[in-house]
Amino acid sequence: MPDSGAGVRLVLRSTRVITPEGTRAASVVVADGRIASVGAHDAELPGGARLVDVGDDVVLPGLVDTHVHVNDPGRTEWEGFFTATRAAAAGGVTTLLDMPLNSLPPTTTVGGLRAKQDVARGKAHVDTGFWGGAVPGNVPDLQPLHEAGVFGFKCFLSPSGVEEFPELDPARLAAAMAEIARLDGLLIVHAEDPAHLGTAPQRDGRAYAGFLASRPRAAENEAIARLVALARELDARVHVLHLSSSDALPLIAKARGEGVRLSVETCPHFLTLTAEEVPDGATEFKCCPPIRERANQDALWQGLAEGVIDCVVSDHSPCTPDLKDGDFGTAWGGISSLQLGLPAVWTEARRRGHTLEDVVRWMSAGPARLAGLGGRKGAIAPGHDADFAVLDPDAAFTVDPARLQHRNPVTAYAGRTLHGVVRATWLRGEQIADHGRPLQQTGQLIERPSA
Ligand SMILES: [Zn+2]
Repeated sequence: MPDSGAGVRLVLRSTRVITPEGTRAASVVVADGRIASVGAHDAELPGGARLVDVGDDVVLPGLVDTHVHVNDPGRTEWEGFFTATRAAAAGGVTTLLDMPLNSLPPTTTVGGLRAKQDVARGKAHVDTGFWGGAVPGNVPDLQPLHEAGVFGFKCFLSPSGVEEFPELDPARLAAAMAEIARLDGLLIVHAEDPAHLGTAPQRDGRAYAGFLASRPRAAENEAIARLVALARELDARVHVLHLSSSDALPLIAKARGEGVRLSVETCPHFLTLTAEEVPDGATEFKCCPPIRERANQDALWQGLAEGVIDCVVSDHSPCTPDLKDGDFGTAWGGISSLQLGLPAVWTEARRRGHTLEDVVRWMSAGPARLAGLGGRKGAIAPGHDADFAVLDPDAAFTVDPARLQHRNPVTAYAGRTLHGVVRATWLRGEQIADHGRPLQQTGQLIERPSA
């Protein structure tokens, strides 16, 4: 058959393609890196098209991970664009957004953004965008950053862990939120209240219980209550990062019901790991806010089921192994799961009776919408980028750190048996990973779509 000439064509065929309307047998036709159509499974091939038939493996839209700390430039011994994005590709993630801190410089000025874009260019296996940061004194930088294409602005209400990215006190939070609302931007917040953290017992050492007591639920609950009040007053769009305390769910649901423009994410570790099982000295489980008790985890799943929680993203925040020193007081806080988020969440989701469609809603469509990329990412639908993860949902594997692609393969999931093997990952119609092996760096640096 002659080439039809309408762009390079690929047809991806499976008995199980997850579309916004549900799962069905289909042939997905790709032209010029985008999905041209989602047709019948046995549809005739367009002329010149290459057929990739994945049989009964599930084709889902590539995951969108809006919470990744790449730390590049400046702390590249912790992570970097090449290694973080290859881990993403291996794990079925096709778009990631980089957090503004832990790199040097942080993304709190346009110069800081350009420095990141310069080091990321040519190294990205997946599409990569950037959050800006709101820190004391940089309100004048927010509009230029917004115009330069950051997806929104992150701030802390309590110390961030790095001195070059200080938290906002209440007056500065209000000033930053007002400016971001004026820009019709998005403020994303690490919500732990410093007063509650300050009065909690500070216990260092190898016991997890001491660390957990030092980051109480009340710190999150109080910070979120303050955010809700301010978002309501300023009619601002606010997103709560890495929700751990399920106690805050009723407050969040009520505020949303009343029209406050609030969204919420949680993370794979809060949904799959529990405080009860963290061994002494196992600081690969340390993150802030912390992994909490099993009953709390049940309530977070309920929040997902009820749609109070919008998305599940990794908060991939690695460091060098020496900084996970076995003392919960001094160890770096962060869990690295860019490559494992999909199987980790799917393993627990299926046990609780959820479907892969649910997982796609939480890990692909939801984060795409949060980032304003809903018209382009997060769905297998005509006009969207041809980004796919091909998953065998029933195959199981045991997590071997040596097979992880991020720079320092420390992981809280080591030795766990997970369900869901990512067979292949495709970005804009090109295969970027094959059975966990990254193939090529065809990721683009992306900007917030203008309204
Ligand atoms: Zn984070």
